[in-house]
Amino acid sequence: MSDSTTGTAPTFAVTQNPAPASAAERAHRMDSQPFGTVFTDHLAKATWTAEQGWHDHRIEPFGDLVLHPGATVLHYGQQVFEGLKAYRWADGSIHLFRPEANAARLATSAHRMALAPLPEADFMASVEALLTVDEQWVPSADETSLYLRPMLIGTEPCLGVRPSRTVEYVLLASPVGAYFPNGVKPVSIWVAQGYHRAGNGGTGQAKTAGNYAASLLPQQQATDHGCDQVLFLDAARDTYVEELGGMNVFAVRRDGTIWTPRVTGTILEGVTRSSVIELLRAEGREVVERDISITELRDGIADGAIQEAFACGTAAVVTPIARLVSPDHDVVVGDGGPGTVTMALRQRLTDIQYGRADDVMGWMRRVG
Ligand SMILES: *Cc1c(COP(=O)(O)O)cnc(C)c1O
Repeated sequence: MSDSTTGTAPTFAVTQNPAPASAAERAHRMDSQPFGTVFTDHLAKATWTAEQGWHDHRIEPFGDLVLHPGATVLHYGQQVFEGLKAYRWADGSIHLFRPEANAARLATSAHRMALAPLPEADFMASVEALLTVDEQWVPSADETSLYLRPMLIGTEPCLGVRPSRTVEYVLLASPVGAYFPNGVKPVSIWVAQGYHRAGNGGTGQAKTAGNYAASLLPQQQATDHGCDQVLFLDAARDTYVEELGGMNVFAVRRDGTIWTPRVTGTILEGVTRSSVIELLRAEGREVVERDISITELRDGIADGAIQEAFACGTAAVVTPIARLVSPDHDVVVGDGGPGTVTMALRQRLTDIQYGRADDVMGWMRRVG
C-alpha cells in the first residue's frame, strides 16, 4: 500500500509481457501511424478502495481491462485523464515536460469528478516505471515522442448515482509521429453554433471524458463545414471566445501584445498555455489574459489588428490558425500562412522539449 499521506513513492511490481513486440514489429508500428492508435507492451496500474487507499501499484502486460458492466465509468462517466509526452534527446536520454503540472491537474480534475486523487509521487513513479519497461518505445525521429495517457476511472458496480468506492488508475503509452509530417499546416476553425463545451459551475476546468463527448457533434459540424477544429464560445452569453475542443487559443496583435482568454472556470488551463505565456513574457512580450468577444476576434482578423492566431496543447504543441468561419463570416488570418511569432514560439518550445536549447525555465525532468 502506498503512503499517500507522506508522498513516499510506491514501488510498481513488474509483470513482464511474455510476448513483447519484436524490434522489427515495433519499428513498423512506430512508423507513421495515425495519432494514438499504437500502444506499447505494458500498462501501469494502481487500485484505490475506500478501505485501503491506493495500493497494488503494478506494471502489467498491455491488455484489455476487465470491468463490471455496472461500473460507474460506463454509466455516469466518472473519469478523468491527462496527456503528456516523453521526448528522446539526441544523446538518447528521455525527458518529460513539466510532469508535476499534469500530476497536479489530474488531482484537481479528480476532485471535481468525486474520484480519489492519485498522489503526485504515485503519478511520477508510474511514469518512471512504465518508461523503464517500455523505454524502447520512445521514438527518436524528429518531432516524435511517446504520448502518455494516465486516467482514473470509477469501477464500482453501482447503478445508483453516487461516487464509486473503487477507482482504477491506468497509464497507457502511445508512440506518436510528428503532428505535421509534411511541415506545419495552419488549421481552419469553425465557430460552434448553439453548442457550448462548458458552463459556470460545470466541468469545463476538469480534464474529463464528458467534455469531449459533448464536443464531438460540434466538431463533426466543423468538419462538415470544411474546417479542422471547432471554437467554443462561453455558454452564458454566447459571446466570448473560450477554446477549441482540446486546445487553448491565442491572438497576436499588430501592436505586439498577445491576447488569450482569461481562465474563468469554463476553460481547461493547458500546461502548454501557461508555458507559452511564460515564454512570451520572458521574451519581453506583453500577454494579456482577458475576455475576447467573437466580434473582436473576427473584426481584428478582418482589419489586420490581429495578425496571427494560434492554438496550443500537448499533442499539436503550437498550431497556427489560418481561418475563422461561421455562417455569417469567413476571415483569413494574415496571409493565411503560419505567422512568424507563432512559428518562433513553436520552435522555442520544441527546442526546450527536445533538448536542443537550454532548459532555462527548469521544465524538463530526466527519466531515463
Ligand atoms: C488537454 C486540454 C487542453 C490542452 O492542455 P495541455 O496541458 O496544454 O495539453 C486544452 N483544452 C482542453 C479542453 C483540454 O482537454
